Amino acid sequence: MADFDVIIIGGGPTGLAAAVYTGRALLKTLVLEKKFVGGQIALSAAIDNYPGFADGISGFDFAQNFLKHAQRFGAEVREGIGADKIMPEADGTFSIALSDGTIATSRAVILAMGRFPRTLNIPGEKKFEGKGVSWCATCDGAFFRNVPVAVVGGGNSAVEEGHFLTRYASEINNIHRRDHFTAQKILIEEYTHNEKVKPIWNSVVEEIIGEDEVEAIRVRDLQTDKTETIPVKAVFEFIGWIPNSDIAETLVDVDDQGRVLVNDLMETKVPGLFAAGDLCVRPVYQLANVVADGVQAAISVEKYLEANKH
Ligand code: NAP
Repeated sequence: MADFDVIIIGGGPTGLAAAVYTGRALLKTLVLEKKFVGGQIALSAAIDNYPGFADGISGFDFAQNFLKHAQRFGAEVREGIGADKIMPEADGTFSIALSDGTIATSRAVILAMGRFPRTLNIPGEKKFEGKGVSWCATCDGAFFRNVPVAVVGGGNSAVEEGHFLTRYASEINNIHRRDHFTAQKILIEEYTHNEKVKPIWNSVVEEIIGEDEVEAIRVRDLQTDKTETIPVKAVFEFIGWIPNSDIAETLVDVDDQGRVLVNDLMETKVPGLFAAGDLCVRPVYQLANVVADGVQAAISVEKYLEANKH
């Protein structure tokens, strides 16, 4: 007999939302969280766009509430323990090799490992992470009203999120290493017609400068090799995402960026193995959507286990 009905890999909003629902369905649930519960959202200074929280909530409090909620319905949450390997067994169950050297078994698995933003890895970036260096305009844009900001990148995310920032910032210095944006034309048109937007082509950001807060960036022109210092109060980086899909890549279908392919029920091609949230190919990557994904995955697990009594 398996140790658990379901093991959820990832203790961010998707995984914990799934755990609330599997717990309420009286399924014996284990959540594995490699780092800390809440994932990236736990680092967010304030969440202002989650419907129902009119005054906003800190990422830490949000994550702790989520944890309590999942535990209230009986989920066991192991923080600091990740999954190293997923082994489907012949009888339809799964054995998971855990990072503490033990094995846990379950009748179903939900992959909810999320994704992490690619970073510039430049001086000043770590120092101001969450305090002026951001990977989410909808989360943090409103904190930078009437001040100049920088956007880095030239794909759909940079242009879309940069456009969102025009609501707040006085000036968007968009630094891009090419001489044109590669986003959808309609997005580029809207964005570049806004007089607040100043594309800085063929350039890279080399340093984020400031004492207690971000004050400027040092930018190098790749054609002339000259550097200039541009005053900004925040740096928004949109240079791509890396899904945490390595342990699943040999089992499930992934796209060219490593994102897991799921159907509307959050099913992968492996029976009993579900995936949800940021790890997957999704139409939008917002907190409310990835929570909804977790809920859907849990309900799908419940139905799957009802139909498969192994
Ligand atoms: P992306 O398409 O991979 O674009 C990343 C951007 O960052 C590119 O401009 C890239 O420049 C630049 N970049 C990468 N590494 C860099 C580095 N080390 N330093 C400086 N610049 C760097 O990522 P994305 O824009 O986040 O989009 C991810 C996926 O989501 C895509 O499939 C996208 O179409 C999709 N998406 C769709 C929408 C929409 O349809 N509305 C909105 C957002 C995202 P190079 O071009 O020179 O490599």
